[in-house]
Amino acid sequence: MSHTKVTRSMFDDVMVPNYSPGKMIPVRGLGSRVWDQEGREYIDLAGGIAVTGLGHAHPKLVEVLTDQAHRLWHLSNVLTNEPAIRLAQRLCDLTFAERVYFANSGGEANEAAFKLARRYSWEHYGPDKHEIISFRSSFHGRTLFTVSVGGQPKYLEGFEPAPAGIHHATYNDLASVEALISERTCAVVVEPIQGEGGVLPPAPGFLEGLRELCDRHNALLVFDEVQTGVGRTGHLYAYQKFGVTPDILTTAKALGNGFPVGAMLTRADIAASLGIGTHGSTYGGNPLACAVAEAVLDIVSDPAVLEGVESRRLRLVAGLEAINSRYEIFSEIRGGGLLLGGALTDQWKGKSKEFLSAGLEEGVMVLVAGPDVMRLAPSLIIPEEDIDEALKRFERAVARVVT
Ligand SMILES: *Cc1c(COP(=O)(O)O)cnc(C)c1O
Repeated sequence: MSHTKVTRSMFDDVMVPNYSPGKMIPVRGLGSRVWDQEGREYIDLAGGIAVTGLGHAHPKLVEVLTDQAHRLWHLSNVLTNEPAIRLAQRLCDLTFAERVYFANSGGEANEAAFKLARRYSWEHYGPDKHEIISFRSSFHGRTLFTVSVGGQPKYLEGFEPAPAGIHHATYNDLASVEALISERTCAVVVEPIQGEGGVLPPAPGFLEGLRELCDRHNALLVFDEVQTGVGRTGHLYAYQKFGVTPDILTTAKALGNGFPVGAMLTRADIAASLGIGTHGSTYGGNPLACAVAEAVLDIVSDPAVLEGVESRRLRLVAGLEAINSRYEIFSEIRGGGLLLGGALTDQWKGKSKEFLSAGLEEGVMVLVAGPDVMRLAPSLIIPEEDIDEALKRFERAVARVVT
């Protein structure tokens, strides 16, 4: 193995320029702390964008991954494997689901969900019932189908023509859905809490209203829980928090705690429309990913872990409000569980990246959700002292930007 000294400037010489990562290169993580090449330490309130729900290098996950690495890595779907069947069983036991399809990412899980919705409606109602309704500002992934269903036109720009039959309503506005839904609608797709779009929680009655509209028009209700799932809201899935059950649910991000894995969950009667050969993936359901995900679910579904989300949320929100009382940068702090959004005041709108960069300078990793909202998605088991220290560092970062 060659050991070239790696520097951040090399990134620009060898990578496609679609990302602009921060200046430092992290090399190690443990729990909610991360260290860079220079040995500087950071507290991680970003969680790799709501992925490392159990922090870095969780000992149980390291054990399960290395154990599986010694046994079996890959077979393809020509054969099944024990971890995949166990994980699917676990997902069915813990949710409304009766059938599971495995993918490698959120975008792939959504791609499967949208294809299934069309295929199911095609089979039961004919080809005209193919329209998909989703929401402005929503995010569902970066494949051509998922950016088309997603509600952020900038992600589709220059990649058209987009797949046809997709309409966008306004999140939290049932009337805007009612105006678009018809017998041609095969699915309504929604993030129960809009993540990338600004960490927007659903208005009371909104998800219930979508359920009713879908039932009335024989359309499938698809919840994209790629960001809200796996304990993020203090419930294993957000649909359980809000008490509205979808027909199809997608999950990824925290499911593998950093090991790539995604899944689409649904009922048996709907799953029947993805018959043999209709869809597939080489890696989907591979034993390494499924062994890790099973261990993640074991840990996260522990009531003590789920209950710990609320107390950590309260501690973080109280700290953010105290900072806000001194610096007045947030007009609102919102979200659900440990998915928190701080909407910036008019004065600071458009400057979310500045707070993120200042955070790195002060040793705390935070996220943005667009230019106007700061976002936090820390580990569900972040220690209280890490929260307190992270808040101190974030306050110094805010002071840096504001003064
Ligand atoms: C991150 C995200 C996706 C895309 O997941 P990838 O693993 O990046 O493909 C889809 N939907 C939501 C709600 C997300 O937050």
